[in-house]
Amino acid sequence: MRAVIWFQGCTIKCRGCIAPHTWEFDDKFRRDVRDVADTILNCANPMPEGLTITGGEPLSQAAALFTLLTRLRECGMEDIILYSGHTFDFVGKNYPGIIGLVDVLIDGPFVEGLESDLPWKGSQNQQMIILTKDETLRKKYVEYREYQCGGIIGSGQTGDKRKVQILARGDYVYVIGIPHQKDSEAIKNGFS
Ligand code: SF4
Repeated sequence: MRAVIWFQGCTIKCRGCIAPHTWEFDDKFRRDVRDVADTILNCANPMPEGLTITGGEPLSQAAALFTLLTRLRECGMEDIILYSGHTFDFVGKNYPGIIGLVDVLIDGPFVEGLESDLPWKGSQNQQMIILTKDETLRKKYVEYREYQCGGIIGSGQTGDKRKVQILARGDYVYVIGIPHQKDSEAIKNGFS
């Protein structure tokens, strides 16, 4: 079981982004970093086995992200994935402290038209960079990196079995997972 944090705010503004509603920096969603950390640590007992940080662009709030990750690591959080619209080179050069606190970085902007059949990324240019020093975790992500929708690449089990979870809660519909580009418009337009 993983926890997920969606950071608000993104100035990269990739064409075709499925989450343009996250681009704005809106004070009404501002939260104290300690509260966010406590929410994650206490949302389940035992605490979640891993954390995914996405957005928006999490590095647009780099200082808060660093504080949050430091606190979570101190409390024993393992298996942390960070999505960023910046490339690995850029993140490594500008945010080495954050790189040192995550296990996996999925990097790069969303590029419309570069479809991917891998369930963890929205466009083919994006890379999974495995940074962890934990050998068990590394092995897990090496396998997952090769996991194509429907099977492991080279295993003959390829196919189009990509799935997302759709949850309706009150006035909101949540899409959990990364859809194919060809399906994104329908999702954004309310499945019409
Ligand atoms: S970096 Fe992410 S949130 Fe920002 S526009 Fe690109 S895909 Fe959307």
